[in-house]
Amino acid sequence: MNMDLVSQAAAAYLDTVAGSDAVRLRFLEGLWDIQSAIESVDRPYSAPDRGAAREALLSGQTLFGVSAPVVPVADYTKAVAQIARYASEMAGLPAEQAEALRDTDFAAVLNENRLTGAVRSVDALIADVVAELDAKQSGPLTPASVAFVLVSALVPFLTGPADAALKALGEFDRSMWAEGRCPVCGAAASMGRMGESTTLKGAERVLWCDHCHSEWGYDRIRCTRCGTRNPDKLHYSHLEGDPAHRLHLCDECHGYTRFVFVDDLSAPLSMVVEDAISARLDAIAIENGFTANGDGGQGKC
Ligand SMILES: [Zn+2]
Ligand SMILES: [Zn+2]
Repeated sequence: MNMDLVSQAAAAYLDTVAGSDAVRLRFLEGLWDIQSAIESVDRPYSAPDRGAAREALLSGQTLFGVSAPVVPVADYTKAVAQIARYASEMAGLPAEQAEALRDTDFAAVLNENRLTGAVRSVDALIADVVAELDAKQSGPLTPASVAFVLVSALVPFLTGPADAALKALGEFDRSMWAEGRCPVCGAAASMGRMGESTTLKGAERVLWCDHCHSEWGYDRIRCTRCGTRNPDKLHYSHLEGDPAHRLHLCDECHGYTRFVFVDDLSAPLSMVVEDAISARLDAIAIENGFTANGDGGQGKC
């Protein structure tokens, strides 16, 4: 993470946003500091060479699918404990939930086997840990808290290797990988950006992964979830007064993706900050019957 840029972007928003947006941003600033320190430790990773990387993408495999980073259990467990403690103190959770998070022994449920799988799909790790710790929606330890801590702790172990893997690949080409999931780690795109007509190729948008912070090109008129190119089914929507943050909605699969329109942005562009700021659009999308990953077109509308 470029912490100078993150700080500048966060500071620009803190001048204008208030209420829950400001509280959330301040909380995340603390988290990004923790993640940045973990990320800065040099860890060996052997990226696939250019040929192997291109071949992987052409056959539908992610770059971590051919060469996964090794996440040391001891380091990860320490990161989980640190982030659990931070969240229990600073996330504004109800007292009972904060205590449960602080007192949970994550070390007892994390092992090498689970972590190896987590690099390719963190969902399996979350499901295992939620079950083993008996986390429940009704609390005090909630599945949402467990997922937040596990994912937030994993991110800084993935960003460095992801960067190395993309560098080894060389120039990204949409003909190699035309998917809405991350070509490096396989997670669904968290959000995207649009604009900067001078630096982006004509008909391209850029998608961004919140798990490994990779970016990749994607078609401009295409659903990131189901892949439809039908322009009658695709539209953007935004809150009045905030054209920089928009929902790209698909009437085919009822999926949505948040986009930042860079030309309308007044803050410096940092995708982690944009991801945090545009999170308020999630509730609006869900209220209107859309889901983050779509439903394959079987839902209402
Ligand atoms: Zn990724
Ligand atoms: Zn769709």
